[in-house]
Amino acid sequence: MDEIDLLEMGSYTELQGGNILIPKGYSSILEPMTKNIAPDKMLTGDPVKKIIWNSDQHSPSDDIGDESEDSDQTVIEDMSKSSGSGKTVNDGSSKSVDTPHKPKKKYVEVQCGSGKKLYANHVICTIPLGVLKEEAANIFDPPLPSYKMESLERLLFGTVDKIFLEYERPFLNSDVTEIMLLWETPSSPEPMEDSWYKKIYSFAKVTETLLLGWVSGKEAEYMETLAMDEVAATCTKILRKFLKDPCVPEPLTCVCTSWKKQPFTKGSYTAIGVGASQSDIESLAQPLYRNVHDKKPTLLFAGEHTHNQFYSTAHGAYLSGRIAAQRLTDADETRESNIECTGSADLHAWIQGIQLEG
Ligand SMILES: Cc1cc2nc3c(=O)[nH]c(=O)nc-3n(C[C@H](O)[C@H](O)[C@H](O)COP(=O)(O)OP(=O)(O)OC[C@H]3O[C@@H](n4cnc5c(N)ncnc54)[C@H](O)[C@@H]3O)c2cc1C
Repeated sequence: MDEIDLLEMGSYTELQGGNILIPKGYSSILEPMTKNIAPDKMLTGDPVKKIIWNSDQHSPSDDIGDESEDSDQTVIEDMSKSSGSGKTVNDGSSKSVDTPHKPKKKYVEVQCGSGKKLYANHVICTIPLGVLKEEAANIFDPPLPSYKMESLERLLFGTVDKIFLEYERPFLNSDVTEIMLLWETPSSPEPMEDSWYKKIYSFAKVTETLLLGWVSGKEAEYMETLAMDEVAATCTKILRKFLKDPCVPEPLTCVCTSWKKQPFTKGSYTAIGVGASQSDIESLAQPLYRNVHDKKPTLLFAGEHTHNQFYSTAHGAYLSGRIAAQRLTDADETRESNIECTGSADLHAWIQGIQLEG
């Protein structure tokens, strides 16, 4: 809590309507959204290493012919540097082009870990804040403007982890739904190894034989360094202490998330650190133009860290993606116009459109 800006606490907006449980996890949201996209038009498992977004900086030989703002070539893949067979990705209505190739004139070049290169007129970057904080300086060429780099520095990407404990048999009364844990404040600072578990604020019953613990902050990051059986043993000690029952069984399995350790998240979600503000989120959301006369931005940003009210949420991520896409699809969009934050009415339509299979 010491790292969170108190003045900015109110900037986060709670979406009305309560929580909904998505039965099969986020894949049941992605599936209806992606089912109309041909699999060969999606590239997975190949991280972006570089985004060269100002082709004016390329050598003149890279500029091949003219290109209008309305080019039908959405994304073109150059397999010449990768081991796979050549293929073309475009928007479905356009012609296929043999590889290797580049789109005409102005383009963004996206280089992937495999060596594959993709060329596009516009790129919406949804790399999470945790990854951007560590890698933005290496990813973007030319570098991001300093106002964005400073906002990346100021904003926090905190860690929240889950601890799942699975038991052979139920051991809690059936009317118990959650065990809340409250510890006395220590008189002097305690070493992390002796105190991390005090940040587990509850164990909630998911089923009669499955408990879910939540842990956050530096303590969560520390937990990610521990072996699962060590976490399980500590949780058992806590449960025995709080329930005053030495017979609380050891769990059969203990599984913990490790959002901080994961190279493609490096944390869980955005928080406004001391000295940061909502305007840092707005700075991160600002699209970048290749030059002052362009009607549409070249490099856009989306993801939960770019929504100034719903940051740190899935709906914030969704809405920010819509806003970025609308900037490109709105024919009348000019760089001066200010796209309004899509509101919760839009979210309602989104949720209605998702077939939540039980
Ligand atoms: C424990 C926990 C509980 C949560 N509970 C809720 C909740 O109840 N309600 C809610 O609304 N939100 C919740 N959230 C937050 C929500 O999950 C996130 O805010 C949301 O997923 C963010 O979406 P995003 O698209 O911005 O980022 P992500 O979902 O992180 O997507 C970013 C993607 O970019 C990929 N990526 C990273 N680096 C690269 C790279 N170099 N090249 C290519 N791809 C890359 C990642 O693999 C990932 O697929 C929770 C999060 C956590 C961790």
